[in-house]
Amino acid sequence: MIILFTVVGFILGTVLGSLVKALADRSLSGKSFWGRSVCTKCQTTLKWYDLLPLFSFLLLKGKCRYCNKKFSINYFWVEVLMGVLIGLLFFISFPNKAVLSDTYKSIIYFFDLIFKTLVITTLFIITLTDLKKTLIPDRIILPSILIGLVALFSITIYKVVYLYYVLSQSVIGKLLLPPKNDYFFRHALITAEPLTGGIIMAVILGLFFFSLIVITRGRGMGGGDFKLGIFMGLVLGFPNSLVALLLAFLSGALVGITLLLAGRKKLGQTIPFGPFLALGSVVVIFWGDKILNWYLSLKI
Ligand SMILES: [Zn+2]
Repeated sequence: MIILFTVVGFILGTVLGSLVKALADRSLSGKSFWGRSVCTKCQTTLKWYDLLPLFSFLLLKGKCRYCNKKFSINYFWVEVLMGVLIGLLFFISFPNKAVLSDTYKSIIYFFDLIFKTLVITTLFIITLTDLKKTLIPDRIILPSILIGLVALFSITIYKVVYLYYVLSQSVIGKLLLPPKNDYFFRHALITAEPLTGGIIMAVILGLFFFSLIVITRGRGMGGGDFKLGIFMGLVLGFPNSLVALLLAFLSGALVGITLLLAGRKKLGQTIPFGPFLALGSVVVIFWGDKILNWYLSLKI
């Protein structure tokens, strides 16, 4: 079953991969997100069978069906990589029976899985645009922040309402409800932690990037990194967003020094930081708990 689940994740990932490259291209060229896809060379509107992830590229040997010009091979690798990432996400998050036999837990489980899938999709689009044009488009990052906020808000309301409902169903539970007892309020606050923690971390990371921009006078970081920082804080929460930030700085420094030593970059030249923030975030989505446990075990 876990194999099947992983394959479903992979296929979903390749479909999202086509979406990723379309949204990345369109947000850079200023085109509408909603129109049909066209060949960039001959402008022919592509049919659905020209747009099948992986298959169309392989069947047409990477060429346009209508003008025979070559598509960039990057399109293919974006689909493969998204397939692998979402496949891995599904593999790691394979649900146990106890989760699926309980409606309340299943809803939270699937919400979490879809949420993580969307976050990875957003991060991948940003990685592509930042690599291509050193730009994190507002048209991608601002709606993502809004969707993240609405999603966290909705699932929190669902959890709190469920808590109230369960308590109100039993005689003892009723005693724990307001105004008799503050038990409900205290537990509602704990339940709301992903939302409140996310908002607090969004503010902290936003302030952090803002001060970096001020200190470096905008030479190191840009407004895009600032908005991406807010997004990371919101969706990763505490302490995962901090771990992701640390990983981003470590991997960024490592790549920066390597490029410097290899003579590919000169001192003072900047490299886009968005891809490293995205990398740190994805690693944390997959293995955040493991990294934190490992780190805490070092201190003992
Ligand atoms: Zn064409």
